[in-house]
Amino acid sequence: MQIRTQAIGLLGGTFDPIHNGHLRLAMELYERLELAAVHLIPSAHPPHRGQPIASAELRLEMAQLAIDGLTGIKVDNRELLRPGPSYMLDTLRSIRAEEGERPLYMILGMDAFGHLNSWYEWEQLINYAHILLVQRTGKRLPMTKIMRSFLELKRTTNIEELRSNPAGKIYIEEIPILTISSTQIRGLLVNRRNPRYLLPDSVLELIQARNLYQNIT
Ligand code: ATP
Repeated sequence: MQIRTQAIGLLGGTFDPIHNGHLRLAMELYERLELAAVHLIPSAHPPHRGQPIASAELRLEMAQLAIDGLTGIKVDNRELLRPGPSYMLDTLRSIRAEEGERPLYMILGMDAFGHLNSWYEWEQLINYAHILLVQRTGKRLPMTKIMRSFLELKRTTNIEELRSNPAGKIYIEEIPILTISSTQIRGLLVNRRNPRYLLPDSVLELIQARNLYQNIT
């Protein structure tokens, strides 16, 4: 009998702040795809967007508080240990070096995949991990032509192809996604409104203790 190593899911993000949408996504994928774990990877210096409001250290601390006591979800701090822009390619390379032949699934929303071709050396990413595309049930999003043909080239509908190879395939998982965003939570906080139940209480307590997000212009 072939003994196989369970896959790890990798969820990168700014997590500014982490919220229940991220956590439900991680838990759904951990359970549905029988993953060894899902690793949340806060981006220290995101190269593709404006810089986050909270410091990388605080975003990491919020993520650690959020997963406290949760089985199967871990926080990976490696992007905080690297200077310069936090390129996903560098992150995947360093995880691959640690994990040998274990299947790795880079988790991406359809929205992010639609413009993946703007990421640093994007075509190399799939050499280090599969791409697990998450799509809200029934929702179809616009996609650049280049990403559409990349998807057609690499897509499989057979999860076994991901489980039995370290990297190289794209798989789409349709899941119920909570309509929560960090932008929405920051907006509530700046207007002195209460975002409770959109994120873990422990994270909200830290936000309040540090007066985070309350003076964004
Ligand atoms: P912002 O509002 O600041 O853009 P965000 O809420 O989209 O932030 P990110 O940290 O950018 O959060 O997201 C990290 C990853 O989590 C991305 O792949 C994103 O698609 C996914 N994600 C964000 N919100 C949700 C949600 N409500 N449900 C499922 N996945 C989500």
